[in-house]
Amino acid sequence: MSAPSGIKVAVIGGGVAGAAAALALARTGAEVTVHEAHPDPAGPVGSFLSLAVNGLRGLELLGCLEQVRAAGFEVPEQRLWSGGGKPLGTMPRGRLASDDLHGVTLMRGRLVEVLRAEAERAGVRIVTGRRLTGHHDHGAGVRAEFADGSTAEADLLVGADGLWSATRTLLDPAAPDPAYAGLYNVSGRAEQVAGAPGTFNMVFGRNGAFAYLPAPDGTVWWSAQPAEPRQPDLAAVPLSEWPERLAETYAADPVPLALLRAATEVHRPTLMHTLAPVPVWQRGRTVLIGDAAHPVGAGQGASMAIEDAVVLAQVVSAGRSLAEYEERRRARVGRMLKAAAANREAKKAGPVARRVNDLVMPLFSRYAYTRSTAWLYTHDLGELTPAA
Ligand SMILES: Cc1cc2nc3c(=O)[nH]c(=O)nc-3n(C[C@H](O)[C@H](O)[C@H](O)COP(=O)(O)OP(=O)(O)OC[C@H]3O[C@@H](n4cnc5c(N)ncnc54)[C@H](O)[C@@H]3O)c2cc1C
Repeated sequence: MSAPSGIKVAVIGGGVAGAAAALALARTGAEVTVHEAHPDPAGPVGSFLSLAVNGLRGLELLGCLEQVRAAGFEVPEQRLWSGGGKPLGTMPRGRLASDDLHGVTLMRGRLVEVLRAEAERAGVRIVTGRRLTGHHDHGAGVRAEFADGSTAEADLLVGADGLWSATRTLLDPAAPDPAYAGLYNVSGRAEQVAGAPGTFNMVFGRNGAFAYLPAPDGTVWWSAQPAEPRQPDLAAVPLSEWPERLAETYAADPVPLALLRAATEVHRPTLMHTLAPVPVWQRGRTVLIGDAAHPVGAGQGASMAIEDAVVLAQVVSAGRSLAEYEERRRARVGRMLKAAAANREAKKAGPVARRVNDLVMPLFSRYAYTRSTAWLYTHDLGELTPAA
């Protein structure tokens, strides 16, 4: 598809990818409507996420870096620990030491709220309670069909509907389905019993990883990622019972255990998934972005979704083909997917692999971090020229 700016765009999904793409496309002159299945963006509830410097530079191009920063807090440093409390390395968090921007952590719902508010200010219409169930590319345009019986016509349909994307399957019925990754995630807040402000800590415990970071409000934000080969029924455990349940899992890891005992809040647990490479990212007038195309994880899901949004708007506003968007994103995202797979394996490591990690990580953090992450953090997205 090739189209000039001023085109009509239907974005399916108003999460991070959808709201960022809507903002980027509107700023470059498109007429954009977001169709979101859920009634609201979830506000302050839900879990938190981190934005790395590459995602922050994307937000700068979208004109909302400061608003996002104000909704979260800076986390310049990352420390790695063994379960027993041995330091395994210190490195910059989501950036290179030479970067002037620092990684930011915030609640996912707050990020979505900021992006949606900025998108609306740029003229985007956001319709909630609209779940995509069908789509028809009839050559002259594309028609989106929703569960409530309504339809919408557009020149371009952007599938930003996340991991369980309906757009992905409509575009290619043979597209892969997500598979349980052997890990799940439970996060929450605790009283301040460990950690220094501004530092993201990752503990490689006996039965899974455990992340924690002290927030400016005096609480500690924590996230437990137990390794569990068989898919657990997370809904079977009441929220209030999770700290006690997890205290058994992390019984051999003193800091995670202390934080779980000091837990004051638990967010809804989620299973972690992998998705085999999605063969079709775009066809005709439809394109996939964000988790719908590539759930990367590893602290890069939101940042990669923001990058997608910028590149899509650049390509569309220049009247170029969607194939060019895919060409510009495939290799970088593929590299990130490989890094994320390695990250997942480190979290599931058994006793032998853990001992190897304990030896290798201090060397990696000291000698190889900059060389192995420069491709990720120094990426140049180019410019995003706002419509006159
Ligand atoms: C536990 C966990 C921790 C994470 N931590 C981080 C982190 O630290 N850093 C990071 O960068 N990323 C992190 N991520 C990933 C990050 O949240 C996602 O990669 C990022 O939000 C991508 O957003 P998305 O918009 O593509 O998908 P989503 O955020 O899932 O949004 C999809 C939207 O589409 C809507 N939708 C779905 N189906 C339909 C439909 N049929 N019709 C209309 N609307 C629909 C949904 O309601 C939703 O609003 C984490 C993810 C998880 C699960």
